Amino acid sequence: MIDSFRLERVQYVPKILEIGILYVADEFDIAVHRCACGLKVKTPLGPTEWQFTEENGLPTLHPSIGNWQLRCRSHYLITAGKVRWAGQWSEA
Ligand SMILES: [Zn+2]
Repeated sequence: MIDSFRLERVQYVPKILEIGILYVADEFDIAVHRCACGLKVKTPLGPTEWQFTEENGLPTLHPSIGNWQLRCRSHYLITAGKVRWAGQWSEA
């Protein structure tokens, strides 16, 4: 299980993503990371999408990330680089 993310600012999102890194491509207003299950998760950034903030090099994404479209259905928050698990999404 992933318990933390560090931030990597990139111009382009790399093809191969390392686990435990939140890639932020400012130019394209998108953050990308790998879920604990290994799949790529894209979070668009913007006023009506995810809010990204950085403090002391530690990334925070708000709101939580719910991977209901992935088989793992994981749901978590990234706050100051730390992952807070929010329990799994149910079928309902
Ligand atoms: Zn997953």
